[in-house]
Amino acid sequence: MAGLACAGALRVQGYEPVLFDKGRRPGGRLSSLQLEDGMAWDFGAQFLLAGEGAFAAQVSAWRQAGLIAPWPEGPEGALVGVPAMSTLVAAQCGGHDVRFGAQVQRIEHGGDGWQVSGPGWREGPFGALIVATPAEQAAPLLSLHDLAMAREAAAARSTPCWTVMAAFDQPLAAVPSVLRDAGPIAWAARNSSKPGRTGRECWVIQAGAQWSADNLECDREAVAERLLALFAAQAGIEPPSTIFLKAHRWRFALPYGQTAGAQWNPVLRLGACGDWCLPGAIEGAWRSGTDLAARIACSLEAAPAESQRLSRTG
Ligand SMILES: Cc1cc2nc3c(=O)[nH]c(=O)nc-3n(C[C@H](O)[C@H](O)[C@H](O)COP(=O)(O)OP(=O)(O)OC[C@H]3O[C@@H](n4cnc5c(N)ncnc54)[C@H](O)[C@@H]3O)c2cc1C
Repeated sequence: MAGLACAGALRVQGYEPVLFDKGRRPGGRLSSLQLEDGMAWDFGAQFLLAGEGAFAAQVSAWRQAGLIAPWPEGPEGALVGVPAMSTLVAAQCGGHDVRFGAQVQRIEHGGDGWQVSGPGWREGPFGALIVATPAEQAAPLLSLHDLAMAREAAAARSTPCWTVMAAFDQPLAAVPSVLRDAGPIAWAARNSSKPGRTGRECWVIQAGAQWSADNLECDREAVAERLLALFAAQAGIEPPSTIFLKAHRWRFALPYGQTAGAQWNPVLRLGACGDWCLPGAIEGAWRSGTDLAARIACSLEAAPAESQRLSRTG
C-alpha cells in the first residue's frame, strides 16, 4: 500500500518508478487467498475505514471504481476490497513496472545512482530509492546508507499475528459474523459474509499479539488446530469439521508507536515509507507513501522528470 501510493503519486509527477516485491502476487499485508470451489480469505488486513482528508478522497474514488464496498455484517463503517482485500493493491499496480518474486537483498549507492539486487539479479542505476517494507525489514537495508533513518526504523516495533484460514462443510449458523477480543482470539470473521464473496463458509481467525508472540516458532499445523479449538470454545460451539485449514504467520503484523513520518534523504535520494511511519494502519501506509512522494517531487523538481527512473523495494 505505502510503496504503491508513493509510486502512483510520483507517476503523476512524470517519474517512472520500478517496483520490486518479494511476494509472488500483489498484496503485502493486504493479501488474500482465493481457491477454486469458492473458498476465499483475506488473511491480512480485514477492513478499512473511510478516513479523513486526502485519504477519504482516495477511499471515495476506490468506492466509485467498485474496488471497495461496505461490509454490513462487519464493524461499523467497515469497507472491504471487492472481491478481495488484495484487489486494492492489485488495482494500483496497473501501469507500473512491478517485479514480483524479487526479494531485495542489497541496495548500493554509487556515482551513477542506486543499484538494487537480489538472488541472481541486479537492476539499476536508479535516480532515487524508496524502501517501503515493514520497519524490521527496512532497518537492515537502510543501515549501510543513512544511520538516522535506519535508527527510526529500528526503533519501530511490530506485533506478530498468527492467522488461520478455515473452511467448514456446514455454516456456523449460531456464530455472529465477527468475534472480537475473545480470550486469545483477537478477531474472527466470516469472510464469506463480505460483499462479493460467494460460496463456502470461510473464516479468518487471528490470534492476539501475546498468544502469537508466545507461539511464534510453533509448528504451523499445530497452530492451526489450536486456534481452531480456541475459536470454537470462544464461540461456544463444538470444533467444526473443516474442509480447509491453514495457518499463516505474520512476523511483523501491526506496528505501534509510529512517530517518524515518511523519511527522505535529499542528498542520497533515499526514502522510506510504510505503516511504521504514521499511525492508522492502511491509512497510515497510504499517507506515508503520498507524503514521501510529495517530498521527493519537491526535492527533485530541479532535475528533468523524464530522466528519472525511480525504484522502490517492497
Ligand atoms: C493480520 C493483519 C490484520 C490487519 N488488519 C487490518 C485492518 O483490519 N485494517 C487496517 O487498516 N490494517 C490492518 N492491518 C495492517 C495493514 O495491513 C498494514 O498497515 C498495511 O497493509 C501496511 O502496508 P505497507 O505498505 O506499509 O506494508 P506491507 O503491506 O507489509 O508491504 C510491504 C511489502 O514489502 C515487501 N517486502 C518486504 N521485504 C522485502 C524485500 N526485502 N524485498 C522485496 N520486497 C519486500 C512485502 O512482500 C510487501 O509486499 C492488518 C495487518 C495484518 C498483518
